[in-house]
Amino acid sequence: MKILLNGYKGRMGQAIVAAAENAGAEIAAKSDVGEPWTREQVAACDAAVDFSFHEATPALAEICAETGTPLVIGTTGHTPEERARIEAAAKKIPVVWAGNYSVGVNVLNWLVGKAAALLDSSFQVEVVEMHHRHKKDAPSGTAAKLISLVENARGLDASAERHGRVGLVGERSRDEIGVHSLRGGSVVGDHTVIFAGEGERVELTHKAESRAIFANGAVHAAGWVVGKAPGIYGMEAVLGLDA
Ligand code: NAD
Repeated sequence: MKILLNGYKGRMGQAIVAAAENAGAEIAAKSDVGEPWTREQVAACDAAVDFSFHEATPALAEICAETGTPLVIGTTGHTPEERARIEAAAKKIPVVWAGNYSVGVNVLNWLVGKAAALLDSSFQVEVVEMHHRHKKDAPSGTAAKLISLVENARGLDASAERHGRVGLVGERSRDEIGVHSLRGGSVVGDHTVIFAGEGERVELTHKAESRAIFANGAVHAAGWVVGKAPGIYGMEAVLGLDA
């Protein structure tokens, strides 16, 4: 299959190039800052894969919608306006949109949803993530997903989130979800969800050791998305975890 890769010069872009080669897929077109994609390139590919910057995704989604090219989005940190433009494009084409393409994290998601439902609010939730010092957005897309799974399981919304604490913040409420983003070094991506009860604690952790896990998942998703009905699919659908 032919893939257009947006953000090919980046850390993930390079990992996708290697993963595509291993999977026998062809990176038929590459784009990045100063080397924009063309409509002809998008139209000539079986799927587009975006691991670039949040501002770049909506225009790619819109050209994919025009040319009927399926899209895999790995980029994170989109604003509500950018998300709305991508969602509008996904009415015309199939889009896989996941904050994390690794199998392990998708199983972590499932476990966190179960734990949040089984443990009541006497088990208070804190989400801690750590990434390399170059990461530009916080919290990570993976952490955002974990937070939304806890909110859904407990009937909460974003107002429950407490992003960092400093000063005289007072006692934490039972429903508060603490979110902490650590940055430094070369960490590929660690996520822990802590359920802290009276006298006991459940901690669910995933540690990514290599970008290959995301790249392999994204290339797999690119193969999967071709021929699907328009709409937005998560990695659960690609991996059959939602069956
Ligand atoms: P990076 O900074 O190493 O690479 C980003 C690349 O995108 C760079 O080459 C940059 O020049 C390019 N770029 C920036 N603006 C662009 C534009 N307007 N058009 C085209 N290209 C543009 O970052 P990275 O570590 O490779 O991560 C890229 C994105 O993927 C981030 O949003 C990151 O959070 C996300 N990510 C997602 C997953 C996942 O599994 N979903 C995993 C890792 C990283």
